[in-house]
Formats: sequence, C-alpha cells, structure tokens
Amino acid sequence: HKWVYTFGDGAAEGTAGMRDLLGGKGANLAEMSNSGVPVPPGFTITTEVCTHFTKTDGTYPDELKAQVEDALDKVGKTTGRRFGDMSKPLLVSVRSGARVSMPGMMDTVLNLGLNDDTVGALAEDAGDARFAYDSYRRFIQMYGDVVMGLEHHDFEAILETYKDEKSLNLDTDLTADDWQTIIERYKQLVVDQLGKPFPQDPRDQLWGAIGAVFGSWMNARAITYRRLHQIPESWGTAVNVQAMVFGNMGDTSATGVAFTRNPSTGENKLYGEFLVNAQGEDVVAGIRTPQAITEEARMESSAPEKPSLEQAMPEAFQEFRDICNRLERHYREMQDVEFTIERGKLWMLQTRSGKRTAKAALKIAVDMVDEGLITEEEAVTRVDPASLDQLLHPTIDPAAERNVVATGLPASPGAASGEIVFSSDEAERLANQGKAVILVRIETSPEDIHGMHAAEGILTTRGGMTSHAAVVARGMGKPCVSGAGGIRVDYQAGTLTSAGKTLKAGEIITIDGANGQVLAGSVPMLKPELSGDFARLMEWADKVRRMRVRTNAETPADARAARDFGAEGIGLCRTEHMFFDAERIGDMREMIVADTEEGRRAALDKLLPMQRSDFVELFEIMAGLPVTIRLLDPPLHEFLPKSPEEIEEVASAIGVSKTKLKRRLEQLEEFNPMLGHRGCRLAVSYPEIAEMQARAIFEAAVEAGKRTGNPVRPEIMIPLVGLKAELDIVKARIDAVAETVAKEAGQEIQYDVGTMVELPRACLIADKIAESAHFFSFGTNDLTQTTFGISRDDAASFLPTYQAQNIFETDPFVSMDIEGVGALVKIGVERGRQTRPDIKLGICGEHGGDPASIAFCETVGLDYVSCSPFRVPIARLAAAQAAL
Ligand code: ADP
Ligand code: MG
Ligand code: MG
Repeated sequence: HKWVYTFGDGAAEGTAGMRDLLGGKGANLAEMSNSGVPVPPGFTITTEVCTHFTKTDGTYPDELKAQVEDALDKVGKTTGRRFGDMSKPLLVSVRSGARVSMPGMMDTVLNLGLNDDTVGALAEDAGDARFAYDSYRRFIQMYGDVVMGLEHHDFEAILETYKDEKSLNLDTDLTADDWQTIIERYKQLVVDQLGKPFPQDPRDQLWGAIGAVFGSWMNARAITYRRLHQIPESWGTAVNVQAMVFGNMGDTSATGVAFTRNPSTGENKLYGEFLVNAQGEDVVAGIRTPQAITEEARMESSAPEKPSLEQAMPEAFQEFRDICNRLERHYREMQDVEFTIERGKLWMLQTRSGKRTAKAALKIAVDMVDEGLITEEEAVTRVDPASLDQLLHPTIDPAAERNVVATGLPASPGAASGEIVFSSDEAERLANQGKAVILVRIETSPEDIHGMHAAEGILTTRGGMTSHAAVVARGMGKPCVSGAGGIRVDYQAGTLTSAGKTLKAGEIITIDGANGQVLAGSVPMLKPELSGDFARLMEWADKVRRMRVRTNAETPADARAARDFGAEGIGLCRTEHMFFDAERIGDMREMIVADTEEGRRAALDKLLPMQRSDFVELFEIMAGLPVTIRLLDPPLHEFLPKSPEEIEEVASAIGVSKTKLKRRLEQLEEFNPMLGHRGCRLAVSYPEIAEMQARAIFEAAVEAGKRTGNPVRPEIMIPLVGLKAELDIVKARIDAVAETVAKEAGQEIQYDVGTMVELPRACLIADKIAESAHFFSFGTNDLTQTTFGISRDDAASFLPTYQAQNIFETDPFVSMDIEGVGALVKIGVERGRQTRPDIKLGICGEHGGDPASIAFCETVGLDYVSCSPFRVPIARLAAAQAAL
C-alpha cells in the first residue's frame, strides 16, 4: 500500500484532485510541482496514515518507515543534502494539512534536522554563523512548544531576559554568539521541565513531529472545531515533510504571503506583504512591519519609504508575478500564496483559493467571466449567498473615525445614523416630519412595530440575536444592535448613559449592525451598489434557478423594496401587522372588546375600508404577480393594552368602562397563547373577522384589476390548520363572500384558498387537506416550534446552553432542522401532491431566506420560497446554487 507521495523537481506523484488523500496543502504542492512551479522537494504522508494512527492508538502501518526513508532519499538526491550530514545537512519543515484548512491542528515546525553538530555544518555551508544559530534556536523553540508541549512564553522569557542583560533591542541585534548562549539556556529549559534532553537525532526529531501532527487530529481544540463545522473525524490530516528554503539568509532573502487579487476590493491586482531576512510566520506575527509586494501598493501603503519587492528584488518579483498569473489561470480562482526567496531564488510554499470579502467575491466572479476564465454558472457558485447581506445595506466608511460609546450584538446588518428617540410613537412622529431617528428601547415588543418601521435603526439594551428587536429588524432589513448591556436607558429623563457619558433624546448616534458598535454622532457611510456587478450576477442566477422567489411583506414600502430586489410576488402578507397602526388599533380594540356579533361587525365595518386600501396598494405594486394574504393569526390579547395606565387610556378612548375592559382582558388571557386561541381558530369562532378580510381582499382585487389592467388572482391563506374541517368551515365563508362580491361587482372573481402548513398534523394529513386547499405554504417558524415543542419566545433561557453543548448544531429557527422539520415538510409535499398534483407549494418565514434551508426546498421540489425583502437577493442566489 502506498502511504507516501513525493513532490518537487518538476514532478509529483499526487495531483490537486487528491485532496482527500493528501490534504489541501499536499495536493496543491503536488499540483504546483507538476506544473513546473519551483517548490522545495518533499513528500506527503497520507490522511489514511492518520486514520490508522487514530484507530490503533498511535501506531503506524508496517510499510511506512521504509516508504518515508525512500522519500527522504529522494529529497536528499534532489537537494544534494542528507539528514545529519556534517557538510551538507538536510533540514525540513513538518507541516500539517487536512482536506480543509483547520485551526486547532499542530503548527508547523521549521528547521528540523538541526542539532549541536549540524548547526556548525549549516553555518559553514551558508557562510553565515548568525543565520545558522538563529535557525537552531527557532527550531528548539518551535519544536519545544509544538511537539514537546513546553510553553512558548518560557522561551520568550529567556530571550527577553538575555536582551535586557545585554541591553539589546531587536532580535536582529543579536549575534551568532548571543544566539549560542540562548540555545544553551533553551536546552537547559527542556531538561529542567521534562527531565530529558532536546532530541539530537534528526530521525527522532522527524518521527516526533510526525506523531505530534497526527496526534493533534484528536486534540480537544481540533475536535471542537470539527464538531462546530461538521467535519468528520474520519477525514484525518496529512503530514507534509519538505526541504527547507531560507528567507533568513541575509538581505537577498525574504519571505511573504500574497493574494493574486485584492481580497477586500476584488481588484485584479497582486496584493501582499513580505519581510527581508525573515522566516516563516514572522510576516503574520507582526514582529516587523512588512513591506508591499508591488510598487503601486507601496505608494498607497502606510510605509512608502520601505522598498517594495518589485523594487528590491526585480527578478524574483517578475518570476513571482508570472507564477501568480499562471496559478490563477490554472486553478481558475483567486489564489492565496506563500513564498520564500533564498538568496535571490524564488520558491513557492503554498497555494490555495483565497478568502475574500463579499464585495471582492462578487467582483472577482464577474471579472473572471469577462476574462473568459469561468462560465456564468460557475460565477453563480462563487459567491456565498449569505454574504450578500453585507452588500445590500449602507456600511460605515472604513476610513471614518469611530467614537464608540457602547457595543452590543450585531443583530441586523447595515449602519444608520439618527436622533435618539425612546418611544415608538415619538419615532413615528419625528419620522413623519422627515427626521432620521434611531429607536432606543430596553427591549421591543409587537407594539413597537410602527416605531421600528419609522426608525432608521434600532438599539436595545436587552435581548439576544433572536430577541423581538433582532428578528423584526432583520425582517425589515433595518440595522439593529441588540443587547448593548453597557447602556443604561432612563425613559423618564429621556437619556441613555454609557461608560460615564450621557446622551439625550434628540442627539445623533450611529449604530453599526455589522459589529454591534454604537457610535456618537453621525459617521460617513457607503451606499450599497445594486447595479453593475451585482445586477449581472443576479441575472445569471435567475437564468439557472427553478424556484420562484417571493417576499414576506405587508407595507407598501416593503413590497416596493422587495420588487427592487427582484421579488416575484408576495408569499406572506401578515394582515395583523396592518392593525397595529395608531389609526386603526382603536377600532381593532373596539372589535375585540365588543360582546356581540353586531358590536364586532360594527367595528369591522370601520376597519374594512382601511384594509381594502392596503390590499389595493399591494396589488398595484405587485402588478399581477401572485399575492398570498394570510388571515388574522395572533391571539387577540396581543392587540390589547397591558399596563394599568394604558388600560385606563384605552378604556376611555374606545368608550367602555375600565372594569369591562379588564374583564375582557382576563377572558382573553391564556397560559400558552402560542398554542391557544389563534390562527384559523379565530376565524372559526369569529367568522365575521375572516369575512371582513375576505371582502376587503376581493373588493381590492376588483379595484386594482380595473386600475392597472392586470387581473388580480389573490391567494387567501388560512393559518394554523390541523384538521380538514377547520379549513372547510372557513373556506365556505370565504367562498360565500367571493360570490357576493362578484355579484356586486358584476364580474367573476378568480382566487385560490390555501393553508399555511405549520402543525405536524397538517403535514401528516396533507392528502386530506389538499382536497380543499389550492396551495400550501409551509410556515416553518411555527412548524419548528410545534415539532420541537419549543416556544421561540421562551427559548432564550436555554438555547444558549443547548448551543454551547452542541445539542443543536445550528439554531433551528435560523436554519431548518432538515432531519425532523424537513421530514415533515417532505411528507406534506408528497401527500399534498398525491391528492392534487398541481398544488402550489411554498415556504415562508425565516427559513425562506436561509441558503441551507433553500437548498432543502429545492430537493423536495417546492415551487417558491418567500422571505423578507432584504433576503430576496440571497434567496435568488441560493435557489440558483441549489438548482445547479
Ligand atoms: P499554515 O498552514 O499555518 O499556513 P504552513 O505549513 O503553511 O502553516 O507553514 C507556515 C509557514 O512556514 C509558511 O508560510 C512558510 O513561510 C514556512 N515554511 C513552511 N515550510 C517551509 C519550508 N520548507 N521552507 C521554508 N519555509 C517554510
Ligand atoms: Mg501556510
Ligand atoms: Mg405561524
């Protein structure tokens, strides 16, 4: 069995395609060697050895020793060096490398092969004693830390003490003799701490390092990382052993890292940093300020006096640039490379596809199509849909100064500035005067919807990422910082205080939903760029996706925003939101408090024209695209006042006694409103409410149809159905209203009645429900609650604990639980289609805008997903990727 694959000298036994066996680093080292890129020779011990090692408690396959020896010979022949040789000693690096880059794994060990004897040989061979002893002390330090488990800072302390003794400042001030003294002290540290000397035999050193890499696959950090990122233990890591090249051999040597394009803007310009006379991770460690690679970047950098690589080493630079271009064309992807220059000679040490910002990902994908490197479909796969969020909102200019007064959670992306307001009514009042406001609340509740709508952004001092403020703000696409616990809000005084600083209502603040910062004053912003590259990528996505993308919207502003983002209809219009409006809530409350059907009908008659005009406007904006309107869903008590003051106020406003209002409140009180008198249960017990809504919908459809010339075919959705009889009773009322309105209007009315599938029972009897329902919309928010038996509003107290213990891999309210909730959806789809093959199927709720959930929706063949306006582009791209 082959356990070892060699590379270097223009050839390799592996290829980039062998990532599973060789790990990412090993596969790409092989690929580079094969394509003639200068790579120091070496070999990769496969991930299969890791699996063997893990299973057998740290032993190796029998053939391994011999295969490693052969590979070492080959490296020796290529380099003209041998392990432990007294004139030309071979030194190697030992590098881990899993299939995907994985923090938690063992760090790289450099300069392995040095010992008390070979260090002298290296000094002589290089003609540079300082270099040799510097390399040896680095080796003892790295090996001691990484392989032998000693503390890095114990070594650092020895170095610092020595520098103090000698009044030396920089590492570069130390001579060969200085390093020799330090090496003695380092070796003594090893003996003191471990009771055994630092290993002198290069082979012992090598197997020690190999064992440490394989052992690190099962260390606690790596295990946790794998669990969080769903990386199977069975993958294992590879070990790369590679001949050292030296960037620390004086001023004609250097080491650096680079991206083939700018990773933050995506510009097609080589971008990177290097250090002269340095080794390995000195660049990342920030010991010295690195220098720019290109002349252009040098001039724009903060240290333009330091020469660029282009200037300092023009030949090596030219070759490096050519190689970067070749690698990019070869991989057809932006590369992140590591290199070292040893006395003017360039060596490549790593290449992989580079991480980038959302903005860069977009630009690179589109540019590469224009350059003929990739197809439009490939471009669609190159951008992470979730990352688009960053592009759809204004962001704070990175160059702007930030006067941070507090930090909370980045609950909803985007940034906004405005006057501080502490109440939703005030927010609405000021917004109507054209002012920009930030609504600041301890926490928000459904009664704050109008204030949240009016505000540019929302700041709360309590609550997490799934608090009311966070969920609603994300739905609205408004920036939100939640749970800024350092801020004290005093509603009475109209002030907020943080870190000793007090800000009054009316003063300007800025919130940054990207990082949770609260800033004093206004800050320059960058506008989102929705044309250009963004529009082109979206167009390509639209060409390949099968599922339609609709939006959840009930206000004209949201509906318009969603259309601008490319929504193809409304998948969920939550009518209850329309009743929280200050103008309407009085009539709504009157209706709820009424004792008789007549009383209720009288109040509903007042609501009808308002509701109708809402729908006319939505239908007009949607211009013939489908619109699904859900009948009233929440329990009625949500519309009623809570505090004694409010009760008093409301009682007089709607003209009933306080006692009567209180009695009604008591009647409506429920132990568990989520499972209480809500959804279709309201329509069953108060059919006049559903009738009013149906009338408003049909009359609006007639009117909007006339006005726009686009016939409107509304979809009426009945929530929380668990029994076919519920649906039939409510549907009969709707059909009757349709008939009446059709007669009145003297025209036929086309419409569909369907149901929101959000109870497990509804999924299980979907075949029966489909006898009456023209469409299903999976309401996976409630379906998640009812499947798990978890109330989302009460989950905050234990969900963090659950997540900390990895009981949930992801929050099931953010990404659909495919195993449980998804299985129910699948049953619902199959049984629904059994009865009605052409039944329209969609999903609404948070999951409709979540890429992983969207991918699942594609596999079960839903017709559309519906999500909040700002997630529409994310859904378009995710649906396209799911279809590819
Ligand atoms: P990581 O996965 O953390 O990037 P690497 O294995 O790439 O770790 O090693 C880190 C750095 O060590 C490299 O970027 C390179 O500068 C240096 N290095 C590794 N192997 C060698 C080598 N054979 N010769 C010179 N430098 C090396
Ligand atoms: Mg690396
Ligand atoms: Mg619901």
